[in-house]
This record gives sequence, structure tokens and C-alpha cells, in this order.
Amino acid sequence: MPSSKPVPNRRKANAFISPDKDRRFAAEDNPFEAMMSRFDDAARRLNLEPGLYKVLRAPDKQIIVSVPIMRDSGEIEVFTGIRVLHNTSRGPAKGGIRFDMAVSLDEVKALAAWMTWKCAVVNLPFGGAKGGVICDPTSMSMGELERLTRRYTSAIIDVLGPDSDVPAPDVNTNERVMAWIMDTYSMHKRHTVTAVVTGKPVAMGGSLGRREATGRGCLVVTRRALERKKMKVKGATVAVQGFGNVGSIAAQLMQKEGMKVVAVSDKTGGIYNPKGLDVEDCLKWVAEHKFLAGYPKGKPVSNEAILELPVDVLVPAALENVITSKNASKIKAKIICEGANGPTTAKADAILDAKGIYVIPDILANAGGVTVSYFEWVQDRGGYFWDEPTVNERLEKIMVNAFDEVAAMAVKHDVSMRIGAYMLAIDRVAAMHRMRGLYA
Ligand code: GLU
Repeated sequence: MPSSKPVPNRRKANAFISPDKDRRFAAEDNPFEAMMSRFDDAARRLNLEPGLYKVLRAPDKQIIVSVPIMRDSGEIEVFTGIRVLHNTSRGPAKGGIRFDMAVSLDEVKALAAWMTWKCAVVNLPFGGAKGGVICDPTSMSMGELERLTRRYTSAIIDVLGPDSDVPAPDVNTNERVMAWIMDTYSMHKRHTVTAVVTGKPVAMGGSLGRREATGRGCLVVTRRALERKKMKVKGATVAVQGFGNVGSIAAQLMQKEGMKVVAVSDKTGGIYNPKGLDVEDCLKWVAEHKFLAGYPKGKPVSNEAILELPVDVLVPAALENVITSKNASKIKAKIICEGANGPTTAKADAILDAKGIYVIPDILANAGGVTVSYFEWVQDRGGYFWDEPTVNERLEKIMVNAFDEVAAMAVKHDVSMRIGAYMLAIDRVAAMHRMRGLYA
């Protein structure tokens, strides 16, 4: 039976959460509400026509599928899979697939819409999508994960395709999962279709630089923000929450750029050393011990306290809803670079704005990943692969350009970078709808 009580620990939620009735979130941290309140604000300022407003609010397609698999024990278990295509007016739907107990329809709908706005901010010819399976991948064997991935892929295969919907990695999915999706899709089509997913292993049509792309994008926009705030890049202090694919690469690249990374954290907690950490050394520790816990060259700091450290740049690169109305007033960073999707609630936005904190919003800050996904898709379709400096150079150009366009929008309308980014994105998607007209 579905539980009617709120589930306190999102990671340990039971497997029977109804995908469409999500009681885990209070109003402030409901991700769909978080997305919609910014959308409404930007749409109002753009004087968006009421008809278009209605069209852009509604996801194109919401698919919920049952995913039965045989566990290694021989027992059959049925998981719930979701794929939401939010908008495809600018091109194929694009967005990751996550395997997590916290997946819900509300969350996937919000993340799919965020992908639409993210792709539009960096001006890629893509719409937005997101998918997920409600499961705890840490309790599954490699064989179980493969069967889950393949069965989920075949359940949503009608929407997938290089011209219609192109998944990528997200929370708890990786290159290996993308390889299984690509193979399952290709077996159904009876020929190899590399461009159906991005974030694949390089040896099977992945792009060089894709793995580092989100973290690299964070560096590019942070550098730009520091310049804009007339702050020095060299020696700027940084705290990074999250030491996964986004956070660890952002920390590594920021350090290489001469910035001083003073704190990093993962789900076991964090390490703080005001004199600066050696990020490479932290990575070595994690390679050996799996987590940061126990790293000796700094003081332990909690995942809550890391957000409140006196630093120049804070990079929340872990989960949603970590900066809320409860802790926003305690944040001391001058710049926040949102490596994660949705780390700040809408209520917290107002508090950060009032404090004059410069927030580089998620739909701009972490768009480096989908930008190199786009490069991967282009390379697969062209059958011609670029070297890594070319990938990085083109990524930098797109990120710098997007940053400047968002900043110009924010100045023109006297709004925050976040609302500026939404306005830029909504304006681009709306323009496409106006040109295409309404098919009836
Ligand atoms: N999951 C990533 C994101 O949230 C990448 C999506 C993609 O490359 O399609 O942006």
C-alpha cells in the first residue's frame, strides 16, 4: 500500500511511492512549483500571450511504464519508469535519465521543463525531456541494472530516437547505462544508432570532453561572474557541495585556474581547510576509500555548514532544494554557481537577491553537459569526431555567449540572472511557437 505519511529520508523511501502523488515535498521544495514560479515571473515580464503561456506550461507527453525484471534471486519485481517530454518545438527532446528512490512524476516534469529552458538558454536546437526509474541502484547487481535499463528502454522506445528524444546520464546513471540503452534501441531498429543517446563511452560514439563538460561549464561561467563583479580569479575561495561528476570536476578545474578550493563534500560530509585543499589529493582519497569521510588534511564540515562558509564562490553541485528560506540568510558567498539542477528554492531566491549575492542559475551554470551532448549528437550524425581542444573551445564559446546574453537580459529588465535566464529561454521557445503556428 502507498504510504500516506511524508517520507523523512528521501534516499530510503519505500518502493511503492505513487509516481503522480508526491507527498514528500513541502510546498517550498516541490520542484514543479519551484520551476513554475520562476516561469510565471518571467512570462509575466515578457507579456507572454495567454495562449502561449498555457502551451508552454503543459508538458507535451508524460509516460509512466511498469518495468518488470527478474532479480538475481529468481523473484520478479516491478519498478515504475517515467519519461516526460516537456517541449519539442525547437528540436528533439533532450535530457537525462536518473535511477533514484526520489524520482516522482512531479520531479521529472520539473526537470523536463528545466531542460527545455536550459537548451534554449545556450541556444541548442533541442527541446526538453527527463526520465527516471524509481529504484535504489545501490541495492542492485550489475545484471539487475542491465535488465532494468533494457526493459525500461524497450517500454519507452516509441518516443526515443535521434530525431525525437535523446537521453543522457543523470543521477546514478552513467556511460555504461547509456551503452545498454543504445544497444537495446539498435537491436530493435536492426541497425546501430549511436545518436539515440549521449554520454556514451568514447569508444562507441561518445564525445571527448563530455564527462568533464558540466564541471568545465561551471568554471567558464564562474570566471565570467568574477570578472563582472571585478573580483580576482586567482586566489578566489571556493566551496563545492557534491563531489560527483559535476562537483569534483568543477573543483579540479577551478583549482587549475588558480582559484583556492577550501571545502568539498559528498554524501558522507565534507572537509574544510581555509588554507586550501589539494583537490587531486581528495580525488585520490575517494578513489581508494570510495567517500571523502576520514580525509585527514582538513576539518570535517557538514553538508549544511559547507553552504554557509565565508567564501567568494559557492558551488552547490549535489541535490535539489539545499538552499531554502531557512538557510539563505546565512549564506556568505558572493557568487553561487548552481552545478546541480534546482539547488535553490524560489523563496530562497528573494533572500539571496536582497543580500546582493550573484546567482548563476542552474539552467545556465550547468548547461555545459547538455552542450557537449549536443556536440556528441552532431558528431554521431556526421560520423566525424572532433579532438578534445575543439570540443572545449566550442563549449567555452557557447557558455560565454550564453552568460553574456543572460546578463544583458538581466540588466535590460532589471531582474536577477535567474529571471534573466528564464526570460531569454522562454522568449526563444515562444518565438519558435509563433513562427510555427498552431496545428489544428
Ligand atoms: N542530465 C544532464 C542535465 O541535467 C545532461 C542532459 C543531457 O546531456 O541531455 O543537464
